[in-house]
Amino acid sequence: PSVSLVDGHTRDEDHNHALRPRSFDEYIGQPALIDKLRIYVKAAKLRGEPLDHVLLHGPPGLGKTTLAQIVAHEMGVSLHTTSGPAIEHKGVLAGLLTGLGEGEVLFIDEVHRLSPTVEESLYSAMEDRRIDIPVGEGSAAVTHSITLAGFTLVGATTRTALLSAPLRDRFHIVEGLRFYADEELAAIVERSAAMLGLPATEDGAFEIGRRSRGTPRIANRLTRRVRDFSQVAGHEQITREDAARFLDNLEVDGEGLNALDRRILEVMFELFSGGPVGVDALAASVGMPRDTIEDVHEPFLLQRGFLVRTPRGRMTTAKAARHLDHADPHAGRP
Ligand code: ADP
Repeated sequence: PSVSLVDGHTRDEDHNHALRPRSFDEYIGQPALIDKLRIYVKAAKLRGEPLDHVLLHGPPGLGKTTLAQIVAHEMGVSLHTTSGPAIEHKGVLAGLLTGLGEGEVLFIDEVHRLSPTVEESLYSAMEDRRIDIPVGEGSAAVTHSITLAGFTLVGATTRTALLSAPLRDRFHIVEGLRFYADEELAAIVERSAAMLGLPATEDGAFEIGRRSRGTPRIANRLTRRVRDFSQVAGHEQITREDAARFLDNLEVDGEGLNALDRRILEVMFELFSGGPVGVDALAASVGMPRDTIEDVHEPFLLQRGFLVRTPRGRMTTAKAARHLDHADPHAGRP
């Protein structure tokens, strides 16, 4: 078993399309966000207008792409998908935008990775439905201004802080996705296992769910692997024992932490007396890119109460010390 199975970052589950919820009704979790999106979609449809531009932010694998698809589906329009790095120059953007029909949705994943010139052209497209394209070269060059159909841009990013202020301001709906509760993940596992043809028992689904780092992408990936294990063992359902035995091999512990999450905490205890420590020092000591710590590991450790942020840096909590069987360096201090 490889660690990539439990790393929210890799995008190797294109074959997971079948498991993607297709409508608001099928979507599990994020209830407050779903309620809001339902209202925005309904209001836009009542007015017969495209939905306002939407920015979705949150760690990888929580459902941003899925929500973009659902929004297009609920609006009854087509979705066009691309990503920031794929839009190499203004011409590519112009091609995408002029290909959009009235009310259609353009989804740009990793929207914080647009080049500055592409980003600038996007401003007028988002605001005035217009894009200027230079035609010809040198002194003979002229600029053609093309009027676009009314469209909706759905942008996804891991953190809004990565976006420039002018781009962020042009999204009128800005919403964050949170890590999922264990019960929600269990429901996702139950649904996926049934769709994959080998149902999970209630505690089997819960065991996989609670080891999924709060992330549906990981829940679906683990469900597939445990299903293989259960099937080979000749079981007719995914049981808690199957899940526990298999996931122990993958080194995902009972709190859903993977080896890298634990390594970060261990380094904090051993090299920094539990902190406070700055993210750069931590990244260097753990040997991991700073972005991976900030996008993938830190948000999860913070939400689950293993880390806290202080003005002077990150600190481990008593819960982290208990979980790793470590003396709490902060015990007794205010
Ligand atoms: P992101 O774009 O935030 O990285 P995705 O939308 O690609 O995440 O979702 C990752 C995977 O998790 C997809 O395979 C999708 O099917 C699944 N998924 C996401 N949200 C849910 C959900 N609420 N219920 C069930 N499966 C989900």
